[in-house]
Formats: sequence, C-alpha cells, structure tokens
Amino acid sequence: MTERYPLSAQPFYEPTPGEDAAWMALALETARSAAEADDIPVGAVAVRNGEVLAVACNMRERTRCATHHAEILAIEEACRKLGGWRLPGTTLYVTLEPCPMCAGAIINARIPRVVYGASDPKAGAFGSLLNLNDFPLNHKPALIRGVRERECADLLRAYFRKKRLK
Ligand SMILES: [Zn+2]
Repeated sequence: MTERYPLSAQPFYEPTPGEDAAWMALALETARSAAEADDIPVGAVAVRNGEVLAVACNMRERTRCATHHAEILAIEEACRKLGGWRLPGTTLYVTLEPCPMCAGAIINARIPRVVYGASDPKAGAFGSLLNLNDFPLNHKPALIRGVRERECADLLRAYFRKKRLK
C-alpha cells in the first residue's frame, strides 16, 4: 500500500500503558525462546500504529556475531518492512535496557519511543551506566522504563543461575 504522507509527517500513535505491557509480554516471549537456545534471554519488538513490524531475540551465541543483539535484529527487520532507515512512529520494546551499540542504533534509526523492562547497571546506555540522551545527538527517543521489570529481570536471573549450575 502506498503511504499518503511521508512517514515522518504521519501522526504518532502513542500506545497506552496497557498496550505497552501487552507488547512487552510479546518481547518476553521471544526472550524466553533465546534462553531455550542457550542465548542470553533478551527480546525486542518493534510496533508502529498498533502493528508489529519486527520481533527478534538475542542471537549472539547462535550466529556467533557480536552485533546480533535483539534490538539490532529488530531494527534491521523493521527497516526492511518500512523500506527505509528511519523508523518514525515506532515504539521499540526491549526486555533489557539497551547497550551503547543498540542505543546508538535506536538513535540512528530515529526511533521516537523506547520501552524497556529491566535496567542494566553493567551496560545500560539509557540511564544506568550512561544515558546517550544526555549527549547533544540529533535525536532523543522518549524513554519508558520498568515495564514488566520483574518478569524481565527474573528471566535473566534464572538463565544465569542455570548457567552457573552447569
Ligand atoms: Zn545491545
């Protein structure tokens, strides 16, 4: 279907808190599939105007590629779907606070809104270790933190506990 307006001129549909929680549940589901494949359980979902553009989980161990974090894979898929490198009107849901690489990709893709679950004191680049929004970059996504935080953090804790017991 042809877009009537340029993507950037379209009204931004802001999901409600209930919708945020529901999309995060989908991100959690894909994160669980990563754990089953022995990858660190992080999941990401890109949503625009109530439609899923991409669902991805961390694949780093499986693909043996340093950049294959959930967010990068979701952004790549969403760009393919929308046919451009900008992702206006998109909310990216992530179970874990994005690292510097992923936060950089989010800014480069001009994603207007990021919702994440658990904070990451070791590598989080949207408020924990550092906040890329504090720098004078040309784009600052709105950040919504702590959605389904407990479930997101518990999933990671359970994964690492199991790893240690192996
Ligand atoms: Zn990352």
